[in-house]
Amino acid sequence: MSGNLIVQKYGGTSVGTLDKIRKVARRIKKSRDAGKDVLVVVSAMAGETDKLLAMAHELSDHPNRRETDLLLSSGERISSALLSIALHSMGCPAMALTGRQMGLLTDGSHTRARIREIKASRALDILKTNHVVVCAGFQGVNEMGDVTTLGRGGSDTSAVALAVALDADVCEIYTDVKGVYTADPRIVPNARKLNMVSFDEMLEMASLGAQVLHIRCVEFANNFNMPIVVRSSFDETDEGTRIIEENPDMEQPVVSGVMHDTDQSKITIMGVPDQPGIAANIFNALADASISVDMIIQNVSAEGHTDISFTLATTNLQEAMPIMQKKGKAVQAKDVTSDSNISKISVVGAGMRSHSGVAARIFSALSNEGINIMMISTSEIRVSCIIEKSKTEQAVRALHGAFKLDEEPEPISQSTTGASPTA
Ligand code: ADP
Ligand code: ASP
Ligand code: MG
Repeated sequence: MSGNLIVQKYGGTSVGTLDKIRKVARRIKKSRDAGKDVLVVVSAMAGETDKLLAMAHELSDHPNRRETDLLLSSGERISSALLSIALHSMGCPAMALTGRQMGLLTDGSHTRARIREIKASRALDILKTNHVVVCAGFQGVNEMGDVTTLGRGGSDTSAVALAVALDADVCEIYTDVKGVYTADPRIVPNARKLNMVSFDEMLEMASLGAQVLHIRCVEFANNFNMPIVVRSSFDETDEGTRIIEENPDMEQPVVSGVMHDTDQSKITIMGVPDQPGIAANIFNALADASISVDMIIQNVSAEGHTDISFTLATTNLQEAMPIMQKKGKAVQAKDVTSDSNISKISVVGAGMRSHSGVAARIFSALSNEGINIMMISTSEIRVSCIIEKSKTEQAVRALHGAFKLDEEPEPISQSTTGASPTA
């Protein structure tokens, strides 16, 4: 594109009412009047996707995934058409496009499809005629031409993928908070807005439950070095949070944020023979169904048998259980159980790479609150714990306080370095 294009994505709460759609249209028109080419990606109006999904579940315990995609995609069709109508009424020429019209092609994995290719020539032609393009987010089509969706929160990914495909300068994600915070501001009222976050940190934050950005959109942005700005739809003065490649000028606090994810469940396969190939057998079955697993724990073997537990998104539990029950029988496991009463809390910070003692501080903070840790996992820049779901908010506040995240970070002392967060 010309180097003059910006992509703006507006989330469900930002277009939740006709009045809000009007406000968003005014903001888009301002960018247009300032001489920018604008491609807008829009989510369904707040609550619409949940409403459609609830109707499908009224009719069936396991709604067919192909039909669910067609159903859910209608939410974004409505909001994109309404926004385009609002723009027209303000004298700003606009054209709404569905995922198919946008040329957004995906694989065939219904309800969690991945983008394969974007054939954006139609959108580029429309932009050349000085129209704003309003694209229905969250959707594409597979090679059969059937409608697919990109997973909950997937409009963020549509936006960044389109920004990359059209070579935009920046992808702006407009939402109901002023940016990315040190914790979910709905849970921690004194959470601090971060001015800049590196792709690496944001990847961790998004995958660990910071709902504000869909994980795949950060993966795209990172792979193609597309800067993202997260900002408020309604506060025009705040500059939001920039998510960019890590650079030496960036602050590297030891801990940047505390994330939580309540969409977590645990499956335990009890009494499996402790033999080579069993784990491969179990986890291949889940991989074949495109179900991701997260933490995995295998107990110490007793009398040639062991228990394997793993966590996964609760949204995938219904589908995973029958697969695991079948596998459990095949490997002569004693039982297969599940537990949805858990959540994952995580502490993230690029500075952990060179700083020790973070894990110990987390464990102390949780123990002071009487919170039991069921599972632990770490990476170079994160420590995660599985805890009881009812303790989630208490744990997030305790950790936010323990690391003094409401205060500006102190520079990292060079004298206290260690090898990993657990050191
Ligand atoms: P949209 O409808 O605009 O896509 P979402 O509801 O998907 O908005 O994401 C915005 C919400 O993400 C905020 O209202 C906030 O409660 C939540 N959130 C969770 N963690 C964070 C965080 N670390 N920083 C900012 N927002 C967060
Ligand atoms: N409407 C979809 C959802 O609610 C996609 C999105 O908003 O990004 O998950
Ligand atoms: Mg969202």
